[in-house]
Amino acid sequence: MSGTFSEAEVLGGIEKGLLIGGRFRAAAGGRTFAVENPATGESLCEVADGSAEDARDALAAASAAQSSWAATAPRERSEILRRAYDLLVERTEEIAALITLEMGKSLAESRAEVAYGAEFFRWYSEEAVRIQGDFAVEPGGSGRIVLMRQPVGPSLLITPWNVPLAMPTRKIGPAIAAGCTMILKPAEQTPLTALLLASVLGEAGLPDGVLNVVTTSDPGAVAEPLMHDDRLRKLSFTGSTDVGRKLIASSADKVLKTSMELGGNAPFIVCADADIDAAVDGAMIAKMRNIGEACIAANRFYVHADVAEEFTSRLTARMSKMVVGRGIDEGVEVGPLIDADQRDKVATLVDDAVGRGARVHTGGAVPSGPGYFYPPTVLSEVPSSARMVEEEIFGPVAAISPFTDEQEVLRSANATRAGLVSYVFTRDTGRAIRFAEGLETGMVGLNRGFVSNPAAPFGGMKQSGLGREGGRAGIEEYLELKYVAVDVDR
Ligand code: NAD
Repeated sequence: MSGTFSEAEVLGGIEKGLLIGGRFRAAAGGRTFAVENPATGESLCEVADGSAEDARDALAAASAAQSSWAATAPRERSEILRRAYDLLVERTEEIAALITLEMGKSLAESRAEVAYGAEFFRWYSEEAVRIQGDFAVEPGGSGRIVLMRQPVGPSLLITPWNVPLAMPTRKIGPAIAAGCTMILKPAEQTPLTALLLASVLGEAGLPDGVLNVVTTSDPGAVAEPLMHDDRLRKLSFTGSTDVGRKLIASSADKVLKTSMELGGNAPFIVCADADIDAAVDGAMIAKMRNIGEACIAANRFYVHADVAEEFTSRLTARMSKMVVGRGIDEGVEVGPLIDADQRDKVATLVDDAVGRGARVHTGGAVPSGPGYFYPPTVLSEVPSSARMVEEEIFGPVAAISPFTDEQEVLRSANATRAGLVSYVFTRDTGRAIRFAEGLETGMVGLNRGFVSNPAAPFGGMKQSGLGREGGRAGIEEYLELKYVAVDVDR
């Protein structure tokens, strides 16, 4: 293995139990499940397999800790986050190796995830001391309007496997800043990074019971009883739209406050007047970051017919040179997909598009050998009937279609249930603004292939979700606004 740490060193240092009330312990009945290395298909280790009973214990711990945690000084919560930020940055190499082992992405990408994920702690350490209320004189003059913000309370945080450190920190950071206690349920494919993160927060001084972690191979069995328990006040979910929809339905029972970061289907629009160098650079990031396994990955490339050939051949040249291999080997750029199902789904979507007339410029076939690899692939002339035009590819496949008319491409871009992010490349300011206004997405990348920034509100419109994470808006998801009507005349 490359990098500073051996596999045994990285795995040996991690607690593999459930974190409940400040103590790592075995799951009820001692059950465990295996965590797989997607680069080899082999098991890395076993972790505790939490059940409904364990989940209730975690909620009891979160509920017991809530009132004292809410009463801590904002500065204290801020400093815990700041210390955790410093620890994550200090331990970058070890954490990056762990992310790569269980998720597959290259070490370079895992290091970038540690930097990005840690930044949510720094940002929210700065927000913890800036939670404000308001005061106004009633229009009639007699009363006063006092507004205060208070923590929502015990929160269930459910996170996906594709960004195993930063998806938890994007929720835990604002929850700590706001004064909420938590139960984190990480994805079954990547529980180890979440467990390491929990240890780091303990080291940073987070009190017992504030963060509880329940790893499980049966997420429904753990989440369902919590959703129907009066002690739970909030659900923050990041994952697929299908699971999100089910959780929204379950959340109706207790009218839970919910935040939903769901699937995307990003259009990437290259206008005839675009800087093609910038568009190709942007495409490489928007498509290939995280091996294409990102909710904000460019899913549909709409390229003006005047520049489609040039853009396609330049993107093909870059994609075909990428180094594919085990992410843990230094120099590798494209690791494996998360599992056999995901690789088979990508292969099926490519076969479907090719069957409907798309042209393959590079890639397009599953390689032999162990691990769940799929090569960087460029397809052109992808028809609107291809399944990948509506479905998230979640893999390293760029699907290009030409366009000629601005209004027509805007309609195509918006013709999807998803509304997370879109990308537009043009040198014309008026056109850029027309696109930014017309695109039905929560985020727009103008002449750049990435939008993620802990200081900015991340989130989607339509079926891509509810609420925002990051920025000032992110902490509001963990705060209740309380209005106090004050009579000053008596
Ligand atoms: P997923 O929906 O299968 O799983 C996400 C999480 O939900 C996991 O922790 C999983 O264990 C849990 N889960 C699954 N079934 C559940 C149930 N019945 N009850 C409670 N929890 C359940 O998604 P995934 O395959 O892990 O992640 C990929 C998806 O996540 C993609 O659609 C991607 O676009 C989306 N995503 C969105 C964002 C965003 O910010 N909008 C970020 C990253 C990923």
